[in-house]
Amino acid sequence: MAGARVDLDGRPIKPMTICMIGAGGFIGSHLCEKLLAETQHKILAVDVYNDKIRHLLEPGSSDPALPWGDRIQFHRINIKHDSRLEGLIKMADLTINLAAICTPADYNTRPLDTIYSNFIDALPVVKYCSENNKRLIHFSTCEVYGKTIGSYLPKDHPLRQDPSFYVLKEDDSPCIFGPIEKQRWSYACAKQLIERLIYAEGAENGLEFTIVRPFNWIGPRMDFIPGIDGPSEGVPRVLACFSNNLLRREPLKLVDGGQSQRTFVYIKDAIEAVLLMIENPARANGHIFNVGNPNNEVTVKQLAEMMTEVYCKVSGEPVLEQPTIDISSKDFYGVGYDDSDKRIPDMTIINKQLGWNPKTSLWDLLESTLTYQHRTYAEAVKQATAKPVAS
Ligand code: NAD
Ligand code: UDP
Repeated sequence: MAGARVDLDGRPIKPMTICMIGAGGFIGSHLCEKLLAETQHKILAVDVYNDKIRHLLEPGSSDPALPWGDRIQFHRINIKHDSRLEGLIKMADLTINLAAICTPADYNTRPLDTIYSNFIDALPVVKYCSENNKRLIHFSTCEVYGKTIGSYLPKDHPLRQDPSFYVLKEDDSPCIFGPIEKQRWSYACAKQLIERLIYAEGAENGLEFTIVRPFNWIGPRMDFIPGIDGPSEGVPRVLACFSNNLLRREPLKLVDGGQSQRTFVYIKDAIEAVLLMIENPARANGHIFNVGNPNNEVTVKQLAEMMTEVYCKVSGEPVLEQPTIDISSKDFYGVGYDDSDKRIPDMTIINKQLGWNPKTSLWDLLESTLTYQHRTYAEAVKQATAKPVAS
């Protein structure tokens, strides 16, 4: 029972009101589901869209009365210009800010929107929390680390294998970005500056904050499938790009050969970490947390191969003769693109403070995610790509 819930120190958890900005996005939708299903907290859900949380807001035919009653309220607000934001933050015990432009295809093509969204638009949120003595959990990114120190060594240098040259630590690693003309880094730089501002608000004005650095969280409802529930010309993040290729039976496009490395964590594991932060303020306040799965590392090429294998298993379709194709980053993203070479999160701090560890293997998380993608989109893609019958 929710009433019997206790925190990590055995204290009962009091129900709270949470102002969740960006609640209609990928992470927000999973966090709302979790909070409604497993806690008694109330959510003031702020976003410009609510498609991904509509099932939580409107009774469906299968659940004529929503089991969580009115514990979630949706406010269609653009935080760029809406005076209602401060009132909502004042009403809440905690604010979680997820709102951002966070798709790499935008960083070098819409750098102004990217910087405004990730820095300028977050400023009032930080200010209202600080002025009203409200706790803030702010979503940053693992991209603030930029490139690894090891990436500047020659390819075959033995120190590249030394973890101190690549493992990313919250309180130790530097933030290494490329030159200004590589506008890819506009996102990382804006996120870094808002982290510094929040940290300074904590140091100078006593703001109670937690900063989350997600390392490639993936799962159902991430981004969109171009031409189905998003623009045909849109370029989402890699999970949705590759899902789209698989659904359309096209080769998966490997940017610059797919040699960059990433660690992927299942959204449901990562949401467990966020719930621990929400319910254990004494352990989470004042900290920056890496949230990722260091055991799930692959090159993007290996990810493409695994996704192809898993998708064939769940869809029953055969592998294409040419499953992948190389493409230059300039052709795929345009000028100004650059890349993070490798992202291994150090887990010491989150382990010590919250005792959290990811559980799901890359294969398992891809199997459940691609089963969802197939079930949700295969028919729509088939219809969209069907040739009109000559009359
Ligand atoms: P998302 O794009 O699915 O969600 C962001 C949500 O914010 C969207 O629903 C969008 O409509 C909303 N939003 C944006 N601007 C807004 C505005 N001005 N007013 C109101 N709502 C606005 O992205 P996500 O993957 O859920 O990411 C959430 C946060 O986590 C972001 O801050 C992102 O930078 C960070 N992050 C995520 C990942 C990941 O692996 N998913 C990795 C690194 C960082
Ligand atoms: N990528 C790719 N093909 C695609 C989409 C992305 O090779 O169709 C690569 C991209 O260049 C990057 C990695 O996949 O190296 C992860 O990209 P994503 O958009 O998920 O975001 P990132 O991890 O860079 O923030």
